[in-house]
Amino acid sequence: MALKLYNSLLRKKELFKPLKAKQVSMYVCGITPYDTTHLGHSFTYVHSDVLVRYLKYLRYQVNYTQNVTDIDDDILRKAKEVGQDWRELGDFWTKQFLKDMKDLNVLPPNHYIKATSSIAMMIRIIRVFLDSKYAYNSGGNVYFRVKKFRDYGKLSKYSIAEMEEFLKERGGDPNDENKENPLDFILWQAKKVGEPFWKSPFGDGRPGWHIECSAMIHKFLGEQIDIHGGGFDLIFPHHESEIAQSESYTGKKPFVKYWMHAAMVYYQGEKMSKSLGNLILIKDLLKKYSANEIRWSILSHHYRDSWKFSERELDNSQEALSAIRSLPYSGIKPNMKKLNKFFEYLNDDLNTKNALDEIDKLVKEKTSSSEIRAALYILGFNLN
Ligand SMILES: [Zn+2]
Repeated sequence: MALKLYNSLLRKKELFKPLKAKQVSMYVCGITPYDTTHLGHSFTYVHSDVLVRYLKYLRYQVNYTQNVTDIDDDILRKAKEVGQDWRELGDFWTKQFLKDMKDLNVLPPNHYIKATSSIAMMIRIIRVFLDSKYAYNSGGNVYFRVKKFRDYGKLSKYSIAEMEEFLKERGGDPNDENKENPLDFILWQAKKVGEPFWKSPFGDGRPGWHIECSAMIHKFLGEQIDIHGGGFDLIFPHHESEIAQSESYTGKKPFVKYWMHAAMVYYQGEKMSKSLGNLILIKDLLKKYSANEIRWSILSHHYRDSWKFSERELDNSQEALSAIRSLPYSGIKPNMKKLNKFFEYLNDDLNTKNALDEIDKLVKEKTSSSEIRAALYILGFNLN
């Protein structure tokens, strides 16, 4: 019985075998702190938390890194709108997010890094790209030359026409006249009046979004990592562009061994998103439900299955957890053999949905509370 994970790059489940024995390097794209975070974000981060906890349970040493995109168009736009300094705005929403994560009993990453703290690394990479013609300077901006990276599209499997179409929808500006090719993306954006900027050999400006993650991964985890996660909506263009940058920089070494993507949460018929305003906030849910109940609801969906939020599910979680609490506390050492099925499900691409069903079954069979508590502990529940 060994852990298998679904690799989005290969679109199949693979036996998990990290690059270095007993060590796992893992990166999950973090938030852009300009507004509140919601259940959709928490779905990704709670499932990532379960992965980290399970890897630790399997005795891997996990080096988990997450970024904060603290400089970005959205932050600057919002800061202007509300008349606040962009740094204060970013710090405020980062703190709120970290509070939500703490309240949900999500373990903090080993490195939690602001993009603005790694600008020197980004500049170093962009310089190399300019020298090697992976990048070009146009209209004061520096762009990545996608044509030079033949594998562009290998993660999303989109055709060029599809990529151009998605880029339009996702703010990628394929009509930017400074670009040689509509799919080229910004590595460095020229300084604009009234906006913060950093000095660089290719002019004053600020980094593009994709280069942040490549630079931070390189700086904190190395040239190649085991697991890269994030929401499914980051596959294109963000992760596709991260691959192009990182593999061009290191000379085509496979950048990530296992790509993992969490599904989207729907509410009121649409994907939960800031732009649509159909948000369920963790801080609001916590007024009515406990962190364990929210975690149970999240984990009752497999991380690759999209789902519709309904409060009824939280009520069901409440019932499931209260049945567990009402089991007499046996105090004896758990017999882990009784959890074979539970582990089988976790090993099968972290099937938390089936794992929770199995716990439910053990509760109905009146299995000793020790095993049930041990299983819930692995999944990050706090029953103290
Ligand atoms: Zn990223």
